[in-house]
Amino acid sequence: MTENSNKGSQAEEIKVDVLIVGGGFSGLCMAIKLREAGMNSFLLIEKSDDIGGTWYYNRYPGCACDIPSHLYSFSFDLWPDWSRMYPGQQEIHDYLKRCVQRYELGLQILLNTRFREAIWSDAESVWHATAGEGIRIRARVLVSGIGGLHVPQYPKLKGVEHLTGPKFHSSTWDHSIDLNGKNVAVVGTGASAIQFVPQIAPCAGKLYLFQRTPPWIVPRMDFAFAEKWKQRFRRFPLLMHAFRQLIFWRQEFRVLGFLGNRFVRGKATEIATHHLEKQISDPKLRAALKPNYELGCKRVLVSDDYYPSLTRPNVELVTDTIAEVCEHSIVTADGVERPIDVLIFGTGFRATEPLIGIRLVGRGGVEIHDAWRERMSAYLGITVSGFPNLFLLLGPNTGLGHNSVVLMIESQVRYVMSCLALLKRDKKRVLEVRQETQKQFVADIYRRIEGTVWQSGGCHSWYQDQRTGDNTTLWPGSVVAYTRRTRAVSRADYELT
Ligand SMILES: Cc1cc2nc3c(=O)[nH]c(=O)nc-3n(C[C@H](O)[C@H](O)[C@H](O)COP(=O)(O)OP(=O)(O)OC[C@H]3O[C@@H](n4cnc5c(N)ncnc54)[C@H](O)[C@@H]3O)c2cc1C
Repeated sequence: MTENSNKGSQAEEIKVDVLIVGGGFSGLCMAIKLREAGMNSFLLIEKSDDIGGTWYYNRYPGCACDIPSHLYSFSFDLWPDWSRMYPGQQEIHDYLKRCVQRYELGLQILLNTRFREAIWSDAESVWHATAGEGIRIRARVLVSGIGGLHVPQYPKLKGVEHLTGPKFHSSTWDHSIDLNGKNVAVVGTGASAIQFVPQIAPCAGKLYLFQRTPPWIVPRMDFAFAEKWKQRFRRFPLLMHAFRQLIFWRQEFRVLGFLGNRFVRGKATEIATHHLEKQISDPKLRAALKPNYELGCKRVLVSDDYYPSLTRPNVELVTDTIAEVCEHSIVTADGVERPIDVLIFGTGFRATEPLIGIRLVGRGGVEIHDAWRERMSAYLGITVSGFPNLFLLLGPNTGLGHNSVVLMIESQVRYVMSCLALLKRDKKRVLEVRQETQKQFVADIYRRIEGTVWQSGGCHSWYQDQRTGDNTTLWPGSVVAYTRRTRAVSRADYELT
């Protein structure tokens, strides 16, 4: 991979056919498929100093996937040596690094290069992009793989700037801070917090966990793969495919509960309730941990060690609202003051704010944030009317609450390749989704979202746009349905020029 050594200089314009932004699962998948198709004129730019996206940033103790990695990995690059069902961050990061090597992408990846702006030129039918410090790139096609979960969300806490001790977000974990014997405050009880709280609880002097809303949690049932199973997977790739299929259908079945099937949701609620009751015997703590919204409305979490960690004598679950942060303490609304040495935010990401820090100017000088003033939307979550030759990976309404998003990424990349093939076949340069097509698609999405637990489950979640309450992040259907819809591009949906 190439380090960007171009800081500050006005280099010549780089010319490529496809510019990919982001070096996580999405961007890498796009690069691999272009490489496989022999379309080698591409450049991938990544703002960070390594590839991996989510799996490079999140290095907090206990960070791991919550979809088994035999499924949470590329279908075309299965890995027999996953150490366990839910491997940790380092193993997934290593997997992605191996992909970069195996598909020889290194020379076409520019690290430390933040994508800033792209302006569509109708006259030339290209995107003029700027990145890093004055790097100019001209590309016929622009693919965004910037992900939705990488800009930390910080809660607005009165007086937080006065805290003298260290404070950091789970995605920018400060490993230089020794938590041994310290009074640690953790704000938030989402997917990251439930992974790192059990890890840090044994060493903290006192751990105060500030909870706004408890999550629904189901058993994780993690286990390590015995060497003989890894050998079998290596020798019989079909066995590995079969195992992946098994996990896929187990996950896929769950979507019924999210979409409105009361029986499936009821069963899942029973499992989660039983899990809570089995692991927490104190009725007061149990009541504080019992969600008062329907299972699935917020992301359902998997953990076997979170609840037990809350029963430790040095851990206190605090459900009162934080009133103020002082120099050495946190005061809650009930007037109780707790001494704090370190503050850790497990408060998630700005998931519904699109393309943060990026300016995209499409046809007629329209900036994408203006086009999305009402809400962010895209046809199939991928193409946007008014923004020719632009493709979004994991764009609006294509996240999942029940299955591996790598499946969605692969479907989207297949679709982009199909669009590029269509352009080539018809000897055209520009493809733009029809406004009417996008409108109808979005109307259909919102009609389907109405009946789902995400919209009617009685919670506020990070899936929802904070201004409108619309669910702009999740796909209201199965992976199978999405894969079908994106199998091939329909010419009628697009204007080709
Ligand atoms: C802790 C954690 C655990 C998760 N576990 C799961 C799981 O088990 N299963 C699941 O399905 N999903 C999970 N997710 C969701 C996860 O984000 C996706 O699965 C997946 O990693 C998304 O890949 P991506 O490439 O689209 O985005 P990312 O991994 O976020 O990568 C995007 C990349 O784009 C780069 N970038 C952003 N802006 C710019 C810019 N302006 N210029 C240049 N580069 C830029 C970023 O630096 C980043 O490297 C998890 C997320 C988190 C945070």
